Amino acid sequence: MQPMPKEYNFAEIERKWQQKWEEMGIYHYDWNDKERLPFSIDTPPPYPSGELHMGNVLNWTYFDMVARYKRMQGFNVLFPQGWDCHGLGIEIQVEKARNIRKRDVPPDQFRSWCIELVEKYIAMMKEGILKMGASIDWTTEYKTMDPDFWRRTQLSFVLLHKKGYMYQGTHPVNWCPRDETAIADAEVDHIKKEGTLHYIRFQLEGSNEYLLIATSRPEFIPACVAVEVNPKDERYSKYIGRKISVPLMNREVTIISEESVDPCFGTGVVQICTYGDKEDVKTVIKHKLPVIRLLTESGKISEAGCKYAGLYVNQARAAIVADLTAAGLLEKTEKIQQEVGVCDRCKAQVEILEVKQWFMKTLPLSEAIEKNANEILWYPDYMKNRLIDWTRALDWDWVVSRQRLFATPIPVWYCKSCSEVIVAQENWVPIDPRMEKPRIDKCPKCGGTEFTGETDVLDTWMDSSITCAVHAGWPDRFDWKHLFPASMHPSGTDIIRTWAYYLMVRHLALFNERPFNSVLINGMVLGADGRKMSKSLKNYAAAPEVLNKSGADATRQWAAAGGATGSDIPYRAQDVEYGRRFLVKLWNASGFTANLLADYKPAEQASLELQPLDKWILSKAENLTLKVTEEFEKCQFNVAIEDVRNFTWHVFCDYYVEAVKDRLYNPNLHGSTKRLAAQYSLYEVLYRMLQLLAPITPHMTEEIYQLMFRDNKDFESLQVSPWPKFNAAMVNEEAEKNGDLIIAVIGEVRHDKAEKKLPLNAPIKKLTIYAATEKNVKVLCSANGDIAGTLKAPSIEVLAEKKTEGRQVSPTEVYVKIDYEAKA
Ligand SMILES: [Zn+2]
Ligand SMILES: [Zn+2]
Repeated sequence: MQPMPKEYNFAEIERKWQQKWEEMGIYHYDWNDKERLPFSIDTPPPYPSGELHMGNVLNWTYFDMVARYKRMQGFNVLFPQGWDCHGLGIEIQVEKARNIRKRDVPPDQFRSWCIELVEKYIAMMKEGILKMGASIDWTTEYKTMDPDFWRRTQLSFVLLHKKGYMYQGTHPVNWCPRDETAIADAEVDHIKKEGTLHYIRFQLEGSNEYLLIATSRPEFIPACVAVEVNPKDERYSKYIGRKISVPLMNREVTIISEESVDPCFGTGVVQICTYGDKEDVKTVIKHKLPVIRLLTESGKISEAGCKYAGLYVNQARAAIVADLTAAGLLEKTEKIQQEVGVCDRCKAQVEILEVKQWFMKTLPLSEAIEKNANEILWYPDYMKNRLIDWTRALDWDWVVSRQRLFATPIPVWYCKSCSEVIVAQENWVPIDPRMEKPRIDKCPKCGGTEFTGETDVLDTWMDSSITCAVHAGWPDRFDWKHLFPASMHPSGTDIIRTWAYYLMVRHLALFNERPFNSVLINGMVLGADGRKMSKSLKNYAAAPEVLNKSGADATRQWAAAGGATGSDIPYRAQDVEYGRRFLVKLWNASGFTANLLADYKPAEQASLELQPLDKWILSKAENLTLKVTEEFEKCQFNVAIEDVRNFTWHVFCDYYVEAVKDRLYNPNLHGSTKRLAAQYSLYEVLYRMLQLLAPITPHMTEEIYQLMFRDNKDFESLQVSPWPKFNAAMVNEEAEKNGDLIIAVIGEVRHDKAEKKLPLNAPIKKLTIYAATEKNVKVLCSANGDIAGTLKAPSIEVLAEKKTEGRQVSPTEVYVKIDYEAKA
């Protein structure tokens, strides 16, 4: 075995292996191999937002540990990578960067600017992912903005339309006035903010009496279509059915009876407006009330708002409050804490508008989603409730059309003469109805020959919620079901309600089958102070900087060790630093071991004479294998890494290596078979540690493998070596107990030397060991050579004493008395 270099150049060696692994092709999923079981990871195609952040590092480390572990387990692993390109986020950035709105330039120009920005961002993120050492099969790379991906998204739309899941309708939807588009429930964030409750007088018809209504949105008064009270509320029940005038509007509405009104909120009298909130929508439907379309798509008051028409919502509120005050109709105001929905991309307050949109029927699938959520494996298990609770809370179908530009077009046209809806045929896609005509001669209904292409586009989630099928090869590979459902769907706690949910509805609707068999959840990355990481809080860490400074293997250890799977984890520089120190320790210990193994030939093991400490470490390494394997199976990465690090650092480096040094340096004293036993144990245990660490710290373990083990092993990379199988025959509990006793002696003496401020190699004239039982005495005597050598104590006496100097010695304990040589 060759000596190893003293220094380990993190950046250089990590880059080297990243390139070599790529050249070796060990990440390639073998599409023709039907012998090995497949393991497919439904890698989330990230939204290209530029720089890789620590949250991405956490995600990809999770996926990658699973991929590498499964590969070593013998699976044919599919670890694909796509990019979820479309969407509002990119459009908003283009608008900001170029100081324009989307309508200011031709759509083609706008689109090409979006593509340009996305390409730039993808390049930046890809560099980061490569630098982390993620074992992605880059031959699978795809971008949802490519027409070839449109083809898949559009095909799924066409098929779902055929199956009756896609429909067009005029329904209330969440609307972002800033982005001028419909958005889905999942894109609405709920934030708490201070609002004002206005107490307004509504005069009863034909009377001087009035009812007081408390509302935080007086600007909706022009859209008031009814006033409701609880029939059990004795204050107001007598007014049910009477007319009441809408302030400032010169018209009247009816007071209706509604049991869901909370008599304790506000005044107990509620105005119904179209639409102030989702409750209004329910009431309007239930009581068949008329709809006044108060807001335009850009968030201004429409003609229905009479004198307030043309004002933005905020301006209208101020004007109406002023008019109410002037008319003596505003009794009082008070501040309240309220929850409002905002657009998750631009943070504008979301309004509810009734507009014609495309919807996917999702509510009928809720039961199937819950059933599947309960059947699949979740890591951690309790996270399944997030999907179930979200599904149960939904009351609207999914609005899938968007009034934007940078997205997959909806493959639909309308007949100019009879408005017939023409949906593309399966073999027309990809197609852009904004540029192309439908491939038919005439309208099947009226024979008309003029068509208008749909200008609305699809929600980005329509692209990314078919990944499980797409990764498997749908619709092009006849055998795509070989990889479907995906083995594992990794998701963040923040996107269970979107991604996991949409994947479920799309695949269940399309294929009547669930998309994945397990879900691996990661939490969010917090700043070191435990708060959300953000540049403005000065607790932000840029992933490229962390990776450049500390390297992938150290950074990956932070991600693995940061916390229980699924929990939020803080980013602390000292955790990465600890990972780096561990690697330096591993490197130095390996270098040292390589020296001790300079003349070792693994093939020649005929005459092994395993000593108590050899049996001890071999048994411990076997138990560690069992434990770490179980932890990887359960995705308990933080436990797995702590177990391997503790074993490596403390059991192997601190004790075993130290304890067998003398045997290796002084074969004349100990005999060559005992020396060989130490070499054998060092070799096997170090190899085992490298294997167990390989999914977490792939670069350094590979470098050590190549330098120390490659000559004797058949695997071109440690990454394709078979994961060690637990061998119960190698476990020897007796040997572990005995070894612990021997280690206790060494520990006691070291402790004593440290207390007396003596160097660890300070010679000892006479060492007396007190052990509790005759059996322990025998054990310690049998390890006499290792103890004497390690402690520089040639003269050792072991006595069986249950009690010494007033101290009780238990069967698992030892007590030592040390007679140091007089100082020279
Ligand atoms: Zn918005
Ligand atoms: Zn027609």
